[in-house]
Amino acid sequence: MSSDKTPVLVIEDEAPIRCFLRAYLESQDFRLIEAESGEEGIGLAASHQPALILLDLGLPGMDGLEVIRRIRQWTATPILVLSARGKEQDKIDALDAGADDYLTKPFGVGELSARLRVALRHSALSAGGAGDSAPAPVFRCGELTVDLAARRVRLAGQEVHLTPIEFKLLAFLVRHAGKVVTHRQLLKEVWGSVREDQAHYPRLYVHQLRHKIEPDPARPRFLRTETGIGYRLEDGETN
Ligand code: CA
Repeated sequence: MSSDKTPVLVIEDEAPIRCFLRAYLESQDFRLIEAESGEEGIGLAASHQPALILLDLGLPGMDGLEVIRRIRQWTATPILVLSARGKEQDKIDALDAGADDYLTKPFGVGELSARLRVALRHSALSAGGAGDSAPAPVFRCGELTVDLAARRVRLAGQEVHLTPIEFKLLAFLVRHAGKVVTHRQLLKEVWGSVREDQAHYPRLYVHQLRHKIEPDPARPRFLRTETGIGYRLEDGETN
C-alpha cells in the first residue's frame, strides 16, 4: 500500500461492518486502519494521524462517547459516528462532544460517500489556507445563493430579506453545509447561550427561514430536519 493514500481509521467491533467499510474505502483509494476497541482506536489515532475517523458508539470497554472526548483533547480530525436507528440521544451526545456527523446503521455507500466528502472538505478548509482570513465564500445550492460577505441572499434570482438573527442562523448553516447541527449547537452559536427558556428558538427561526428560502416551505429542499437531532443544510458549492 502506498503511503500517499488518505488514511481513514475505523473503530468498530462488528466484523461485518468493518468488512463493508474496508471494501468500500479501499475501492475509493483510502488507506484503512482498523481498531476493534476504543482504547486501540485512540492509540492508532495518535500513531497514524488519520485524515478521518469512523467511530462506532457501541463498543466493548470504553464507549464511543468517551473515545470522542479523549480524541478531542488533542486533535480536530473529523469524526463520523456510526450508530443504530432509534439512538437519537446517543447521536446528539456524540455531536455535542465534538463528533462531526453521524451515519445510521445500516447505511449505504451513497450516504457514506456523501458524509466522507463533506467531512474531509470541512477539515481541509480549517487546516489549509482558507482559514479566518480567507474571503467569505458565496454558497450555491440549487436556486439558493448566499453571499456571506455581502450578507445577500437570493432565491431564483430574487433578493430575500432576512432579519439579522435569521441571517446569522443561515450563515452558520452555510458554514456547516452538508453536516448535521444540533439544537444545542444552534443555541450556542447563534444565540450565544444554551438556556432552557430559549430551547424553542431554533425550531421557530428555522420555520421562519424556510418561509423565505424554500420554494415550498412544507417540503423543504435546502434546510432539512434531522428528526430528533437538529437540522442539515443541503450540501452546495462554495466559491
Ligand atoms: Ca458495536
